[in-house]
Amino acid sequence: MSKVLIHPAGYHNVREAVDRAFELFPVEITGRKVLIKPNVLRVSKAEEAIVTHPEVLRAVLEKVETLRPASIVVGDNPGMFSYGANEESFISTGLMEACLGRYENIGLDSLKVAFDPDFMPAVSVSRAVIEAEVLISLPKFKTHGLTVMSGALKNSYGILPGAQKAMLHKAAGSPVRFHELLVEVYRLRVPDLFIMDAVVGMEGNGPASPELRDIGLILASDNGVAMDSVVATLMGCDPGRLRFLQKARELGLGDFDLAAIELIGTLKAIPDFKLPPLGGEANINNPHVQQLIESRTILRPLANPGLCTGCGACVDQCPVSALEILEAIPVVDPEVCISCFCCQELCPEKAMALQ
Ligand code: SF4
Ligand code: SF4
Repeated sequence: MSKVLIHPAGYHNVREAVDRAFELFPVEITGRKVLIKPNVLRVSKAEEAIVTHPEVLRAVLEKVETLRPASIVVGDNPGMFSYGANEESFISTGLMEACLGRYENIGLDSLKVAFDPDFMPAVSVSRAVIEAEVLISLPKFKTHGLTVMSGALKNSYGILPGAQKAMLHKAAGSPVRFHELLVEVYRLRVPDLFIMDAVVGMEGNGPASPELRDIGLILASDNGVAMDSVVATLMGCDPGRLRFLQKARELGLGDFDLAAIELIGTLKAIPDFKLPPLGGEANINNPHVQQLIESRTILRPLANPGLCTGCGACVDQCPVSALEILEAIPVVDPEVCISCFCCQELCPEKAMALQ
């Protein structure tokens, strides 16, 4: 039976929860190569809660150091394209300082591995991920327009460097297929331990929403499916309705059924938690909603002229060239857009909303 730790915490006392996580989920670290992977979506400030908080990284790193590993690397692959924002993302968020000199740009060296040919015959994965003997994932408690929540499984999407992330969005072609693809990426290298920053979480139109929520928790598990089931439940979403959790269970990666998970701590749905516009409906059990999603007619990005600076980052990074700047703001071609939400994720002004 998988276990999930639900531990009260603030950023001032994260270490207590981290110590408890290592007690409950002892990972053999001494003499081994360790990679710690926070969620570093993009350039932002720590207080925007878009990335794993530096205090969580620092506490985990200091703990791992006491266990005498052969080496420790901290790294992630922010963004959709290799446009040099790796170091910048770590610096702006304060994560670079918390890396205590262990940061490495893991996007610079990768290995090709076989993938599900339904999507793509092979993908490149950061060499540091493949060669790590211990992989510790530090997800952030956030909503996500495409996958409803961004948790343990979604954090593994960052093992892919460069433009592949966008290309795979395109190869998936629909939200449900993207849920399935996400699991294929996750199982390329299942992390050994997950410690989630749920001290300040995100609700609403994540994964870069301005709507933050004090949750006051650190979650930990050695099973990502069990952890994401707890996260979905906290968000007020039935985990069994999420296609990526269904698919992970089909592949024997874990169980989302709460009856099959030992909870260490109190699990209670957060009152009035705001799910993204899909409202937890990106699932295959609701044919009506699914038909609307598949028809790709309901959700399209729309730039807010009051916030958009016309910088063009979204236009450059749209994997299917569905955006163009018209009268100083980006306009979407609904026939071309594949609803991957990359533009919303990467807009530095949070000017893109889904309509
Ligand atoms: S990335 Fe954001 S600010 Fe820049 S053009 Fe697109 S919507 Fe506007
Ligand atoms: S317009 Fe935005 S949501 Fe649509 S395909 Fe391009 S990046 Fe994805």
